[in-house]
Amino acid sequence: MNRQEAKKIIVEYAKLLAQSGMVTLYEGNLSLRCSDGYVITPSSTNKLTLKENEVIELDRDGIFANPECGKKISSEYRLHLEAYRVRPDVDACIHFHSTFATAYAVAGKAIEPKGDSTAIILYGEIPLCRYGRPRTDAIAADLKKYLPDHDAVLLENHGAMVVAKDMEAAFASAQIVEKTAQIEWLVKALGGESCLPDDEIEFLKQL
Ligand SMILES: [Zn+2]
Repeated sequence: MNRQEAKKIIVEYAKLLAQSGMVTLYEGNLSLRCSDGYVITPSSTNKLTLKENEVIELDRDGIFANPECGKKISSEYRLHLEAYRVRPDVDACIHFHSTFATAYAVAGKAIEPKGDSTAIILYGEIPLCRYGRPRTDAIAADLKKYLPDHDAVLLENHGAMVVAKDMEAAFASAQIVEKTAQIEWLVKALGGESCLPDDEIEFLKQL
């Protein structure tokens, strides 16, 4: 898939992400790795009305390749390029600030389910990357620590990020991360988890 073809997918899933309620209109960013570089949603642009010719293109070296699109590149592109660097097996990435996942990130807490068997099977845990200052390379500094072994991470004082083989899988993963954060929160409100035994948790993680 080349950059031109990938733009269609970015437009389709930007709209879905905005409609999902996980982000506000301008928040978050989606990207794809292509045969000839990368494409990513532009900064400060309505995701419901995004057009293909407004999608940012980066060449294979990560250089902004289509300034004629009239849009600005998001400073968070650094997160995406670093994710692709440390995960050569994935071609799609979504960064988002959904309410419950971001609440965990802002609280500085990883999501470590002990009772939700589905979440344990899917993620084991959703680790917390330490804070990195926005608009600098530090924002992505901790991805190399956790992303090699996890498809979803929280970004301390910031939000969340998922990677997957394609955009459909990444979108589903973002939905699951947010739902898992919601469930963990509600379970705490109900008095805490009905924890599974450690050996059962380890078994589920291997499934
Ligand atoms: Zn962000």
